[in-house]
Amino acid sequence: MRLLDLHHGIFRHIVPFHAELTALRRDLHAHPELGFEEVRTSARVVEALKLARVDEIHTGIAKTGVVAVIRGRRHDSGRAIGLRCDMDALPMREENDFAWRSTKPGLMHGCGHDGHTTMLVGAARYLAETRRFDGTAYLIFQPGEEGFGGAKAMIDEGLFERFPAQAVYAMHNWPHLPAGHVGVAPGPMMAAADRIEITVTGKGGHGAHPHLAVDPVLVAAHIITAAQSLVSRNVSPFDQAVVSICAMQGGDVGAMSVIPRQVKLVGTVRSFRSQVQDMIEERLGRLVESVAMGLGASATLDYQRIYPATVNSPREAQFAADVAASLVGEDHVVRHLPPSMGAEDFAFMLQVKPGAYLRIGQGREVADSSGFLHSSRYDFNDEILPLGAALFAALVEQAMPLSPH
Ligand SMILES: [Zn+2]
Ligand SMILES: [Zn+2]
Repeated sequence: MRLLDLHHGIFRHIVPFHAELTALRRDLHAHPELGFEEVRTSARVVEALKLARVDEIHTGIAKTGVVAVIRGRRHDSGRAIGLRCDMDALPMREENDFAWRSTKPGLMHGCGHDGHTTMLVGAARYLAETRRFDGTAYLIFQPGEEGFGGAKAMIDEGLFERFPAQAVYAMHNWPHLPAGHVGVAPGPMMAAADRIEITVTGKGGHGAHPHLAVDPVLVAAHIITAAQSLVSRNVSPFDQAVVSICAMQGGDVGAMSVIPRQVKLVGTVRSFRSQVQDMIEERLGRLVESVAMGLGASATLDYQRIYPATVNSPREAQFAADVAASLVGEDHVVRHLPPSMGAEDFAFMLQVKPGAYLRIGQGREVADSSGFLHSSRYDFNDEILPLGAALFAALVEQAMPLSPH
């Protein structure tokens, strides 16, 4: 594959341990663990970091989180940067049949965090062996990205007080981007993800005598329709947002003539700017209450903000794109990747530190069944392990260069 033909010095150093990295990645894949339960995973990480001879290993941050400290050949510049990966798997059933498929029923590395962890281990080994930088690298192995807010938990436990990085970088594999490509944007990368729960309360009764009841099913139908006006009529066409009602529950499918008392709607709101997010929360709340009131019922909105938007700082995004271009060539770097409406808890780190979230292409040249993230047939593409490790390492070397003397 083309990646291995590159002549950059980092590759020459990392490629010889590609096989070991692949073995580690497949071992992690075979033993997936849920957020904050990555006990075996973090033990494997610690073992690899010890072998790599990093300077310090700190464990137990946000339960299973690990931070490795690697000091450069010089470290009097006062510079420090953080590199972050996620370690958790998903509560889903794997449908692959290769040898390293999940050994745990109902758990799967369906998002490639096994690969991210391995790439950062690869970077640790390279950086500890070469130390061609002036400053300190903090390698952050984070638990619980998939809905658990592990990044926030680490920050709340003093991550950046203990390891004062001046900027942080993370990367996520991206099946839509060919292997060997890197994508980034100087602003929003992923959306803010909010959870909405609407409870509509009417008055139960007989379906044959609706005038004696207050039908919450009809009210819910109007709310579902009206909610779709928020984005089309309230959000500027130059902003992006999504309102999706994804679940509804009311009545009993076995009871054709019972009007229930209550209906619940559950969904999600995605947005990039906090002004848009605030506006949707406020208007959706008013809309829910007033539609219900107009129809003689009552309704409440429970609006929970899960993850903020993942927004790169422009300077660090451009720097990261330059670093990527130094490895794969300018023609393999997408500098203005359109944002995704998915969400990512690295957002919490970017709220407190400048930095960038990158997408590393993992699409295969031959179409196969590897599938998209969170698909039961997904697998991380081991071919990109050296590139990911090299990219993490190059961020350190180029952010904190040794002075030439
Ligand atoms: Zn995921
Ligand atoms: Zn993920």
